[in-house]
Amino acid sequence: MEYFDHCIIGAGIIGLATAYKLSLRHPSDKILLIESHSQFGSETSSRNSEVIHAGIYYAENSLKATLCRIGKRQLYDFCNQYSVPYQRLGKLIIASDKEQVNRLESIQLNAQKNAVELSLLSKAECQRLEPKVNAEAGLLSPSTGIIDSHSYMQTLLTLAEQQGVLYSPNTEFIRADKTADGFKLLLNTQDGQYQLHSRNLINSAGLTAPNVARKIESLSSSHIPNYHFCRGHYFSYQGQSPFSHLIYPMPSPKIEGLGIHATLDLAGQVRFGPDTQYINKIDYQFEQYDQKSLKDKFCQAIRHYYPQLDISKLQPSYSGIRPKLSGAGELAQDFDIQTAQRHKVEGLVNLFGIESPGLTASLAIADHIVDNLH
Ligand SMILES: Cc1cc2nc3c(=O)[nH]c(=O)nc-3n(C[C@H](O)[C@H](O)[C@H](O)COP(=O)(O)OP(=O)(O)OC[C@H]3O[C@@H](n4cnc5c(N)ncnc54)[C@H](O)[C@@H]3O)c2cc1C
Repeated sequence: MEYFDHCIIGAGIIGLATAYKLSLRHPSDKILLIESHSQFGSETSSRNSEVIHAGIYYAENSLKATLCRIGKRQLYDFCNQYSVPYQRLGKLIIASDKEQVNRLESIQLNAQKNAVELSLLSKAECQRLEPKVNAEAGLLSPSTGIIDSHSYMQTLLTLAEQQGVLYSPNTEFIRADKTADGFKLLLNTQDGQYQLHSRNLINSAGLTAPNVARKIESLSSSHIPNYHFCRGHYFSYQGQSPFSHLIYPMPSPKIEGLGIHATLDLAGQVRFGPDTQYINKIDYQFEQYDQKSLKDKFCQAIRHYYPQLDISKLQPSYSGIRPKLSGAGELAQDFDIQTAQRHKVEGLVNLFGIESPGLTASLAIADHIVDNLH
């Protein structure tokens, strides 16, 4: 049976960043990265807003706050070093009425606790920055940016492979049995079933991480959370962008999502989204839902900050699903990164609830995993 030091399940952004960091920090270890699809990053990692978040809203000292702050810095450095396309455009958070103006201060205070710079802008200053936006006041976050997430993932994979990582697409994790010094793994490959041994096992299977965890022998089910799938739709906006910054409304106090915002891609195209819709199974389809009512919901939300919206320019684009640990109306939960310290299974790391800002935090999450393995 072939022996590996580390096996990573899932080649989304987190699995790829982990493979890269492991190979950097343990160059002589044997590392295997498996992915059930033929293409890396084809689930949540290619269905998001591609925003490099500043880390404004998360609870002080939470993993989301800490790993977003550290990850953001690392991600900008990584983009510069390896020529991954990005732009530090900055983001404007809009208060569109007097009640919302009162909430800007508490957002600024929270950002300060997370060491994130935000400047308070008056109505006139907002107008000067974004003439088409309706704002009573706003907050400008200069460290927010956008990234070409496909190019980022491709670069992580190329570097990892150059450093000796074995990447195996079309390979599905089936089960793991605990051994004295690691795990005996059963995989499904294009050439049939395959067994191997790995000292460490990293479950970064995204939306199906709880299913994977259930197939790891000796892991107590009390450590496996239930997921709430929360889909977010995006509409593209045809024609020239009316904005030069990312435009965000005030988030809902429960932060199920950040509100239907306007992001730009690196080609300057605007897209609006994502909304929040709790669903029972993984399903990315737009078509099943009444597109007119979805469009109306988007229009209503967008017109608060962009009254000149031309509805005929809104086109359904794509959707992504958040792997949430909290249900509708419940308070947002932190990332849940479980190591042996918690579940007592030596060599196992389970990653649950890696929703936003998982892309921004990816390099810091990977360091956190590597720090907890030997
Ligand atoms: C709507 C939306 C918007 C977002 N916007 C942002 C943003 O702007 N900025 C930001 O920082 N973050 C954002 N995020 C969060 C970010 O996209 C995620 O945190 C990140 O992509 C999670 O990556 P992952 O590797 O954990 O999961 P995934 O990308 O889902 O990867 C998991 C992989 O595991 C594979 N897999 C599953 N089961 C198995 C198995 N049994 N065997 C082998 N492989 C398996 C899957 O095929 C998949 O490729 C957003 C998320 C959503 C849903």
